[in-house]
Amino acid sequence: MIILEKEITGVMVYYYMVCKKKLWYFYHEISMEHTNDNVYIGKLIDEESYKRENKHINIDNVINIDFIKTKKILHEVKKSNKIEEASILQVKYYLYYLKKKGVIDIKAKIDYPLLKQSVDIEIDEDDEKYIQETLDKIKEIVSLKYPPKTDKKKICKSCAYYDLCFI
Ligand code: SF4
Repeated sequence: MIILEKEITGVMVYYYMVCKKKLWYFYHEISMEHTNDNVYIGKLIDEESYKRENKHINIDNVINIDFIKTKKILHEVKKSNKIEEASILQVKYYLYYLKKKGVIDIKAKIDYPLLKQSVDIEIDEDDEKYIQETLDKIKEIVSLKYPPKTDKKKICKSCAYYDLCFI
C-alpha cells in the first residue's frame, strides 16, 4: 500500500480525470496557473457568481467546497460551459470524504453559471468502490519519480502547463 505525505484533494481527483501529467505537476507543487487566462476567467466567475453565499469552506485542506446553501446541500461552482465527468467525480469524492468523516445524509450540486444549469450529485456503493480504486491509482501516479507520459489532447492548448509539456 502506498502512503503519501499529503492527502488526496478534490482538485487532484479532478486532475486525475483530466490529465495524469497535470495531476503529477499539481501534487508536486509545480504551478503555472497565474500565467493562464483561463484560470483568471475561472477566478472572475467564482468571485462574481453566487456572491451572497458563504463561500469556500475548507475541510482538512482536502476538500474546498464553494458554498453550502442549506445544511444538506453543498455546491461546487464550475466555469466550464459543458458538464464534465471530472467535475462530477470531484464532487462525488467530496461526498465520499464527508461520509468517511461521519457526515451522511448530505447531497451536492454542481452549478454552471455559464450554462445557467445545476446538476445534482449523490453517491452509491458503486461510486464509493470506483472512488477507492481512483484514489489508489492517484497514489501510484503521484509516487512516480517523473511525470507520466501523456499524449497531446484538445485541452492542452488551454492548459496552464502547456509550455512545460510542449515547448
Ligand atoms: S498541457 Fe496537456 S499534457 Fe500537459 S499537463 Fe496540460 S493537459 Fe496535461
